[in-house]
Order: sequence, then structure tokens, then C-alpha cells
Amino acid sequence: MSNFQRTLITAALPYANGEIHLGHLAGAYLPADVYARYLRLRGREVLFICGTDEYGVPITLTAEKQGITPQELVDRNHASIKASFEGFGMTFDNFSQTSRAIHTETSQAFFLDLHRRGVLVQKSSEQFYSPTQGRFLADRYIEGTCPQCHSAGARGDQCEKCGSSLNPDELIEPRSVLDNSPLEKRATVHWYLPLDAWQPELESWLATHPEWKENVLNYCRGWFQDGLQPRAATRDLHWGVPVPLPDHEGKVFYVWFDAPIGYISATREWAAAQGEPEAWRRWWQDPESRLVHFIGKDNIVFHAIMFPGMLMHHSEPWVLPDNVPANEFLNLEGNKLSTSRGYAVWLPDFLQRFSADTLRYTLARTLPETKDTNFTWEGLQSRSDNELGNNFGNLINRVFTFAHRYFEGRVPAWTEADLTDLDRAALDEVAACRGRWAERMERFEVRAALDEAFAAGQAGNRYFDESAPFRSRKDDLARCGVSIAVTLQIVRQIVVMLAPVVPFSMTKVWGWLGMKSDLHRGGWTEGLAALPAGRALGVPEILFPRLDPDVIAAEVERLRALTDGLA
Ligand SMILES: [Zn+2]
Repeated sequence: MSNFQRTLITAALPYANGEIHLGHLAGAYLPADVYARYLRLRGREVLFICGTDEYGVPITLTAEKQGITPQELVDRNHASIKASFEGFGMTFDNFSQTSRAIHTETSQAFFLDLHRRGVLVQKSSEQFYSPTQGRFLADRYIEGTCPQCHSAGARGDQCEKCGSSLNPDELIEPRSVLDNSPLEKRATVHWYLPLDAWQPELESWLATHPEWKENVLNYCRGWFQDGLQPRAATRDLHWGVPVPLPDHEGKVFYVWFDAPIGYISATREWAAAQGEPEAWRRWWQDPESRLVHFIGKDNIVFHAIMFPGMLMHHSEPWVLPDNVPANEFLNLEGNKLSTSRGYAVWLPDFLQRFSADTLRYTLARTLPETKDTNFTWEGLQSRSDNELGNNFGNLINRVFTFAHRYFEGRVPAWTEADLTDLDRAALDEVAACRGRWAERMERFEVRAALDEAFAAGQAGNRYFDESAPFRSRKDDLARCGVSIAVTLQIVRQIVVMLAPVVPFSMTKVWGWLGMKSDLHRGGWTEGLAALPAGRALGVPEILFPRLDPDVIAAEVERLRALTDGLA
């Protein structure tokens, strides 16, 4: 628990070169959204920032293949990723783009501050240069004869004929992919972050965060042990944020340098849209603000080492990350995801056939919080039918149906004095689950938190069976009414616990309970008095319809065909 005034949450900027898949969701986006929703539910002040990362060589290559400009490509992909995220229920306060002017301005100003303070180190290296095009070429734009198998057309990073991985220096007669002209080596000068010099400072800072996840701290310890190396922040390329110095034409920032600054740009953009252009400083520079980065493990070095180093050596008083709760990877039906082979489940495809809540719940139960985990379609069906349907959906359906059939669709009359030991024990048990649920959520342990929500659902069902309103309604309608009122209170607590993970369905149930407040903004604070006797209840519908086994089998088959094709 913390005493911070507000929490700034970031989720890794997705690369605008394709769609979002389940691995991305399990790594960064779902945990970030669940945490943002949790804090808002508790009535805390939250800002949730993201956007697409749009520069670099893979973008220019894809754009060339499609015969469009890089800007057209990233604009199209940004719109599509944004729409998928909305369908999935992501609640970003701003979802920006790194190709926007505000990001150019913000990242250039950040770089210039470091440059003016003499923090950056300049180094020269030899790179391939195309005299006909007047520019240095990235590895993937260089082609030549393979030194291993002597076939023509080997790329600067790999020969596709014999599979050797190469660097451009090994190619015989290297040429430009763009116009087939011969290349020459020329010296080029770039700016580096002196991570080696920053290491002692970074180590002492990280030592103040023993509470971070063990997997994250272990990666950092490993890098410190090997010794950090200077890392180039600029490169020769046209598609990127230009280096804002004289005589630096054709030089841009590496995306790893400007992408984290994208969080700041996106916050500035958000502040401007609120009509308070300086409000971003409250989130980034007030010590009462807490910064939390949600990422996958492949991004730990940038968020736990490099970006904090950049923030420390800038002249302004930046807030450093308070936590970087990175996740490991999600596998798919026992295999690693591969976007190049199409071995993935893409979010837009999923949302065409299934509900976002089903996916959010299943992924949340399987998050790779401490080690790699495995998503299976059978698992999705089982979680949806057995847990969402049989545990939660069944309890909710039973109590509302009962209230409509025997109590005119209202909360039956009850008072504290009517409660039996059984009633109190059930309410206490669910309240205890809710307390442990909150403790787990504070520590980013979504899976363990959901165990508590699930236990509350089981306690609710057990209570309903044991208090047996289906018997008491025949000879003691008042007692029957108290059982229903108590079950409704339990359902209200479960709705609060499930709201961050299953928001669409729980918003409905909150409405059926006749709650006037916004569940997702402070819904946690509603007390027992929130469900008074006589309150009119909504008419329930089936929340979690059973999944069609044939549809599930077709999904399994699609993936199996892809792995068979490999063998
Ligand atoms: Zn070869």
C-alpha cells in the first residue's frame, strides 16, 4: 500500500506493424487495464497512457511491400489497433502515436537536454553507405552473395537459401536492395547513452525496490553482473524522429530511445486536450505521483534500466518508475507464438466470434505472472462454461430469477436482526475474500486475486443451497426473503471483485441490482446499505452462454494445421 496521491499507468507501446494478439494482451495490456480499473474502483486518481510505436526499419519494409508510405501504414494500423483495444475493453485515457508532432517535439527536447548537459557520448563507427542514394543503409536494406553457399541475394542479416545468419560485412559484393548499386564503407558518428558509467547509480536505485517481482529483479541482476555497455541512441535512417542538431541530416533516434518518451508525449497530448497544457507535469514531476510500467519481459531492459537512467540524468525532476511488473510469455497450445508463421490468435478475429469478457477472464486466470504459461482453447471453454457460467453466472441467475418469481422483482424485506449464524457466516466469508482480493490486486497478483473472487462465488452458491430458499418459500416466506437479500449482497460483492476483469458483464449486473453509482469509479465503497429492502431489481439475462464445442474444435484445428505444416 502506498501513500501516493495518484498513479500514472503505462502499457508498452505496441509496434504499429500488425495486429494485437493474445500474447501481447497477457504480457502487458490486460494486467495494465485490470490494475487501472482496480484503482478507479477504489476511488483513486489514475491516468492510463499508451499509444503506437511507429518508427524503425520493419515499418518501412512493410510499407514498401504494400506500396504505401510509412505514415499511411502506421495510421492504418493505429486505427485498427485502437479499435481492437476498445472492443477488448481497454480504458486508456489517451492512446497516441509516436509519429505525431507533439512526440517529435517532446523527444527532441528530451534529447537536447541530455546533450546540453554533456551526458551523451559521441562515437564513430563504419557503416555501409550508398553513394547513389546518398545515405547509410540498415542491415535489411543490404544484399550480396552469401559467403557460405555463394548464392546471390543473401540479405544483410541472413541468407534465405542456406539459412546462415550473417552480418553485412560478410557479404561478397554488398549492394543496395533499393537500386542494386554497389556500397562502400564510410565512417558515421552517433550519440550513445553511457550506461556503463550510469551502472552504480542504477544499481543503488534498484536496491531501493526489493518489492519488485522476482523475475524482473533477476533480469536486472544478470545485466549488472555482465556489466552495462554504452548504447547507441541515434542511427542512420529516414523514418524516425530526426536528431535535432546541426550536421545530423539522415540521423534519427533509435525507437528504443524515443518510444518510452512517448509516454510523456501522450500525457502532454492528454493534458492539452483537457485544456490544461501543463497538467502533465503533475503526473510526471510531482513526487506524490507514482509511475507504473506494464510490459512483457522483452521490454524490461528499456523500462527498468535505460529509461530510468535517461530520467535521472535529465535536468528536470522526473518521477522514476515505482514498479515495473513485467510478465513472462504466453504460449499457445503448447507452442511459442510466431507472428511470421501466423501461429497466433489475433484479437480482432477473436472478438468476431467470442466475447471480450470470456477472453479477459481466461487470460487473467492464466497470466504469465512469474513464468511462461500456456493458453488452450479447451481451457477457454472450461473457464467460460465451468467458472463464469456454472459458478458466477449460475449464482447470479438463481437469485434474480427467485426474486422475480416470489418477491415481485424487489429486494425482499430484511434487517440486521433477521440474520442467522448461517447468513452472517456467509457474509463474513465473502467479505474476507474481498479483503484478500484487494491485497492481491495491490501486489499485481491478478491470478491469486481471482482465486478469492472464485472462492466468493463458491461460498455464495453454497450459502444458497444451505439456506435453501426453495424450501422456506413454502412455509416461511419472510425467512426465504432474508436468504434472497443476503445472496444479493453476496452478488454485489462478487460484482465488485470481478469488475476489473469482466467489466462488460458486471456493468450489467450492477444495473440489475439497481445501483445508481458508477461501478467502475468508486464502486468499492458502497456499503451493505447499498441494497435496501424494496429496491426494484432488473430482469437478468444469460451472462455467459455456453461455448459451442464445434467452434472451439475449429480453432484448435486451425492451429494444429499450422504446426503440422512445420513438421
Ligand atoms: Zn547462403
